[in-house]
Amino acid sequence: MDLIAKRPNGTMDVTPNEAYKWHTVENVVKETAEQFGFKEIRIPTFEETGLFVRSVGDTTDVVQKEMYTVSSTGDKTYTLRPEGTAGTVRAVLENGILNEGLPQKLFYILSAFRHEKAQKGRLREFHQFGCEMFGSASPLADAEAIALANSVISRLGLKNVELNINSIGCPECRAKYREALKAYFKPHFNELCDTCKERFEKNPMRLLDCKSKEDQEIAKNAPVITDYLCEDCAAHFEDVKKYLSIMGVSYKLNPKIVRGLDYYTRTVFEFLTTDIGSQAAVCAGGRYDGLVEELGGKPTPALGFAMGLERIILTMESQGLDFAEEKTCDLYIAPMGVAASEKAMELASVMRDEGFFVEYDLVGRGLKAQMKYADKIKAKFVIVLGDNELADNKAKLKNMATGEQTDISLGDSLLDDFGAVYYALLMDSDDQFRSFVEAFADDGSSDGQ
Ligand code: ATP
Ligand code: MG
Repeated sequence: MDLIAKRPNGTMDVTPNEAYKWHTVENVVKETAEQFGFKEIRIPTFEETGLFVRSVGDTTDVVQKEMYTVSSTGDKTYTLRPEGTAGTVRAVLENGILNEGLPQKLFYILSAFRHEKAQKGRLREFHQFGCEMFGSASPLADAEAIALANSVISRLGLKNVELNINSIGCPECRAKYREALKAYFKPHFNELCDTCKERFEKNPMRLLDCKSKEDQEIAKNAPVITDYLCEDCAAHFEDVKKYLSIMGVSYKLNPKIVRGLDYYTRTVFEFLTTDIGSQAAVCAGGRYDGLVEELGGKPTPALGFAMGLERIILTMESQGLDFAEEKTCDLYIAPMGVAASEKAMELASVMRDEGFFVEYDLVGRGLKAQMKYADKIKAKFVIVLGDNELADNKAKLKNMATGEQTDISLGDSLLDDFGAVYYALLMDSDDQFRSFVEAFADDGSSDGQ
C-alpha cells in the first residue's frame, strides 16, 4: 500500500477491535465520578498560551519543552491543552460556576498534548480522566478526591498500584524549604543538568522532579518538605492521612513527590505502578489553593487529579484483566430474495425501535455466506427469510448458541413477527425457548388478526 500520510509519532489509533477497552474504562470512570457527585464539564482543545504558562508554571517541563503552540492572526498564540486543570479553572470562572454554590465537583475525559519523546505509556496525544473540586479547604475534600481515584482503580481491577502521598505545604512553609534545598544543591550546582541550573534560583523544588538519572542521584539525600511544614499544613496533612485510613485507602508516605506542575499546594499524590515498564504514574493530582486567584478569580481552595487512560489500559492489559464485553448482535436477519430483503428491513426497524441490536444483509450475499457473517458478528439469533417462506408467512429462527432451528409464523402484522422473536430472544434455555415459541405461535396468530 502506498499511503500518502502516516500516523504522527506519539499518537494512537483506537481500532474498532480495541474500542471496547476504552468503553470499559470510560464507563467505570464516569459512573464512579457521578456516584461521588461529580458532574461533567467539557472544555476546548486549545486555549490562549498564557493560561498554561501562568498556571502550569514557566519553569516546568510542560511549559518549557512540551507545549504545542500555534500562532493565530495577530500576536495571540494558542496552545493545545497539555492537561485539563487550567482550562477547567478558566471555564469555571468564565461561566460563573463558583457562584452556583460550593463545593463544585467536576470531571472530564479529554485528550491532552505534550511534545515528549514518545515511548510506551508516554504519548504526544494522550487521554485523561480528571476530577476537580472547588470550594473546600478541608482535608475531607483531599481524602474524598483520593478515594474517588482509588475506587476507579480498584473497580477496574488494577493490581500492584501504590498510592504515594505527600504534602508540599503552603507558600509560607515552602519559602523556608526552598532555602534549605538551595543550600543542599549549591555544592553540586556545576554537576546539574542545564535545565536544573536554570531552575536553581527560580524554582528549586523542580530539581527534585528532574528526570535525569545523575540529577536524581544528587537529589537523593535532599531535605524533605515534610520537615518544613508549618503547623496548619502539618495538621491538614495528618487529617488527610486519618481520613484515608477511615476509608480503607492504603497509602505510602513519599516526601519526594513534588509533582510536575507549579500550581500545587499541600496534598499531592500519585498512583504508581511498575507493571508498564519503569515506575509510572497512572494517576496524579493534588491541592491547588492558589490557582483560582492566580487566574483572576476570588481566592478559592481547590484540588483535583488526572488519570492517564492509556497507562490505565496498558496496565490492565499487562495484568490480563477483563474488559467489559461489547454488546453483540441480538438478531441477524438473513433474507433470500428481493421481497424477503424488504421484509428484513421492516423487521429490523421494528426490532431496533424496541431496543434490540439487529443487522441484516447489506451486501447481497447467499445464505451460506450470510450464516458465516452472522457467526462472525456473534449474532444470538438468526431469522432466515426466503421468498417462499415469506409467501407462507413463515420463517426459520435459529438459536446460534445451540444450533436449534424453529419454524415461526410471521402472522399478519409486524408485531406478531416481532413478538415471536422477542420472546425467543429472552430465553436462556432451549426448553424455555421452544415452549415460548410454541406458545407464541398459538397466541400470536390470534392477536394479530
Ligand atoms: P510523568 O511524570 O509521567 O511525565 P506528569 O507529572 O507529567 O507525568 P501529570 O501532568 O500529572 O503527569 O498528568 C497526569 C497523568 O496523565 C499522569 O499521571 C499520567 O498518567 C498521564 N500522562 C501525563 N503525561 C502523559 C503522556 N505524555 N502520555 C501518556 N500519559 C501521560
Ligand atoms: Mg511529564
